[in-house]
Amino acid sequence: MSIRNVYLFGQGVVPGIVIGRAHLIQGASQYAWNQRHIAPEEGSVELDRLRQAVDASWQQLEDIKEQLAGESKDPGHILEAHQMMLRDTELQNSIEKLIISERINAEWAVLRTLGLWEERFLRIENEYIRERFSDLRFVCTRLLRTLSGQSATEVTAPPPDAIIVAQELSPADTILLGRNAVSGLITVRGGKTSHTVIIAKAFELPTVVGVTRAFEHVGEGDLLVLNGHKGEIIVNPDAKLVSVYRAQSHRMIAKDQALLEKAHLPGMTADGTPVHVLANLDFSDEIIKAKGHGAEGIGLYRTEFLFMVHEKDIADEQVHYQDVRELLERWPGGGPVTLRSFDLGGDKFPLTAQLGREANPALGQRSLRLALAHPHIFKAQLRGFLRAFALFPHVELRIMFPLVCSVREFLTAREILLECYRELVTEGHEIPDTFKIGAMLELPAAMMIADLLARHCHFFSIGSNDLIQYALAVDRGNEKVAHMYRGLHPGILRMVRHAIRAAAEAGVDISICGDLATEPIPALILLGLGLRSFSMPPVFIPYAKDFLRTVHLAEIEELTAHALTLPCADDIEAFMRQSLGDRLQDTFWSEILEK
Ligand code: PEP
Ligand code: MG
Repeated sequence: MSIRNVYLFGQGVVPGIVIGRAHLIQGASQYAWNQRHIAPEEGSVELDRLRQAVDASWQQLEDIKEQLAGESKDPGHILEAHQMMLRDTELQNSIEKLIISERINAEWAVLRTLGLWEERFLRIENEYIRERFSDLRFVCTRLLRTLSGQSATEVTAPPPDAIIVAQELSPADTILLGRNAVSGLITVRGGKTSHTVIIAKAFELPTVVGVTRAFEHVGEGDLLVLNGHKGEIIVNPDAKLVSVYRAQSHRMIAKDQALLEKAHLPGMTADGTPVHVLANLDFSDEIIKAKGHGAEGIGLYRTEFLFMVHEKDIADEQVHYQDVRELLERWPGGGPVTLRSFDLGGDKFPLTAQLGREANPALGQRSLRLALAHPHIFKAQLRGFLRAFALFPHVELRIMFPLVCSVREFLTAREILLECYRELVTEGHEIPDTFKIGAMLELPAAMMIADLLARHCHFFSIGSNDLIQYALAVDRGNEKVAHMYRGLHPGILRMVRHAIRAAAEAGVDISICGDLATEPIPALILLGLGLRSFSMPPVFIPYAKDFLRTVHLAEIEELTAHALTLPCADDIEAFMRQSLGDRLQDTFWSEILEK
């Protein structure tokens, strides 16, 4: 009899609670592929097998793409990147060379090549680039499956409602699993930024990654509870736990639906103070979901993701134009659409352009600095934005620059934008001059000069993700210092208070698009400090709107005033928890975030 109630933990990356039977999928390294030495005369046979397998694998991806065409969550761009990798000449040459020089069969040569490349990738410090190795592994696993005659869809035929347990999943497999209506995903490897997670979010599949001990403790068919909020798995839960989680999961589904129905109501507090809740988007096709989840505008469109998962030429104006055009085409109107110029460098690298490595990339030539160092790329993007805007002149368009550090830097960027505007008008484009220009406040220095910046900006958006990392000297992606990454640190709150006051005095709009706005206690404090506009990933919007409707501004202002006299983040959190009591416990917003 199996052991009951074994708890496993990882990182919950897609919220939701599901109960189901485990279906195990082994990756490239677990499977006993047919590896054998070959006679010299077999070389050409193996080369042929390899080429046929490349073509067949390419076609499998093409078939998946076709099946998905037209779906709003179409991640075709990722599949295209995998198709390009399959036909990459360096990869093919490397495998072919090994077949001939080492006299090994195609499967073995693929595995050897994967091993050689893994060594190279593991030496790379940057987490994002390291994670891209998983793409290569997915492509090679597909090749191996094809070479060994396994069905291309074998992996994707789990029992209905299964919870998939895998070393890692390729985006293509995740798409097919999502379409096969599995109920959740657990992976041993993988980080928050992996493509698989992006797709799992699009399919709203509760997912926990980084469950390192999954294969030690989970067997095929085991009953599992997966809690994608907390990043928790329970293996073989007893009947009592199952009923507790089943009730919780039903409650959440019902609540989700009820909240979605109310999501279109305007955001406001219980006393009727309007609070705008906008959406953060990483891809243009998320805009439909954003509207469905009650977004009153787009507070942040991260334009760089297009170049991180897609081999697009970032210097090509047409690419930017097309992307923003698709975004605006789908926006049914109502509320602003905020485009952020590309925020690359640091931990975000495009697939194509080679950026020089820096000793300290977070403090190096990233974001707006990178854009200003490459004005032809910056201009290509800004011209693309404006040309797309010309097609939708009634959209309330906002363009903002990330990581603004000084007034001079902002003025330089703004001048480049205005120069693009003048050039386009001279070229005969009819572009309204109604677009607004703003700065992200995500550096401590920028927060402190908000009054000076306000003279030149139409609006501000607080980027708390970076602000916290720079103000507290805590890498936002390093789990060893994650406990020190505290948005409620009084130093952060005081800077936010200063910026909100400066904006109010200058009559400049101010909003927040960092993830701090997705947590109930910080959001209430921001409200108490005077913020009336919050931008967050669409999934949080119904929860945020619902919770805001339960609080009275006067009370929150009073609590906030006291909270800001307290010395530490822990004190502030404890005080707010105690003061809000059951109201905080009862909010589903806090439930989906309780980690
Ligand atoms: C931020 O820093 O808060 C932000 C919204 O930008 P990003 O997360 O893309 O750095
Ligand atoms: Mg940022």
